[in-house]
Amino acid sequence: MSASEFSLIDRYFAAHDLHRPDVALGIGDDCALLVPPAGQQLVVTMDTLVADVHFFAAADPEGLGHKALAVNLSDLASMGATPAWATLALTLPKANEDWLERFCRGLFALADRYDVQLVGGDTTHGPVTTLTIQAHGFVPPGSALRRDGAQPGDGVYVTGTPGDAGLALAAAYGKALVVPEGRVYAQQRLERPEPRLAEGVALRGVASAAIDISDGLAQDLGHILERSGVGARLEVERLPLSPALAASLDWDAAIVTALASGDDYELCFTVPPERVAWLESVARGWECRCTRIGVITAEPGLRLVRADGSAFRLERLGYDHFG
Ligand code: ADP
Ligand code: MG
Repeated sequence: MSASEFSLIDRYFAAHDLHRPDVALGIGDDCALLVPPAGQQLVVTMDTLVADVHFFAAADPEGLGHKALAVNLSDLASMGATPAWATLALTLPKANEDWLERFCRGLFALADRYDVQLVGGDTTHGPVTTLTIQAHGFVPPGSALRRDGAQPGDGVYVTGTPGDAGLALAAAYGKALVVPEGRVYAQQRLERPEPRLAEGVALRGVASAAIDISDGLAQDLGHILERSGVGARLEVERLPLSPALAASLDWDAAIVTALASGDDYELCFTVPPERVAWLESVARGWECRCTRIGVITAEPGLRLVRADGSAFRLERLGYDHFG
């Protein structure tokens, strides 16, 4: 690595002033030295964003800095973990300082908000911009929210309003028109997803299973169903649609978007009947909505029904509704 790249690391990554007491040695040596809290489980996750695959190469770098970390923190949230540390592997076609500065602004603004310290990484030259973050957090033993705990009779819930990022993406491809008053909102939902960390921690001991929605609610709930060996019945009329989504698409298209578009980073989780009152009391303090959308069934598979009990056909799951 060249001297100028060392100075880039110093200037942009090592200079940041957030210092957690559990970091004995941060950026600057061959490795970081970290002190996990006694008696806690270390929770580790990694996600990569590749230019022209996960984001437009010309996208706002500040938003990319936010999103590269947010998608990882969302994984920690889905496990009920408290975040602590992150490492960053950055591959760039060229060392564009303006880009790096803005990327760091977005990254560190989110990191600081959740007391996450960047403790190391790697910086390389390569043909396409690739952003890989590994995030680390803690959870008390036995209290992580997993995919395999859902039981028949458990309620199925979702945070926030799924489908907003999908709406913004469809608009970016010229396949949907967002109502003018919803444009900034939808774009924010795509570019600045808010990891549901407080909600994930609050769901410890409450939820029987949880996942974050990155590939579409129906598909990601499917992972819970598969791992838990159960099915689910979703009442599509219960799906919480944002005003922007509801006003921009006709009802059927809005429901399909809420069910089958990606990049939402909301939590989908299940709660046993005896803990529903507990959920309702903790969810009162949340900044986002928390909506019951269905129930876990013993019969495997995902059934989508309307209020009158008739089937809602999601014929184009995995297929672009706007294509
Ligand atoms: P090495 O040659 O031992 O891999 P590097 O020269 O790659 O070390 O990195 C020097 C220091 O800078 C290390 O502490 C490393 O973790 C840190 N670092 C390098 N790139 C990044 C980055 N993109 N983000 C955060 N820390 C980084
Ligand atoms: Mg290195």
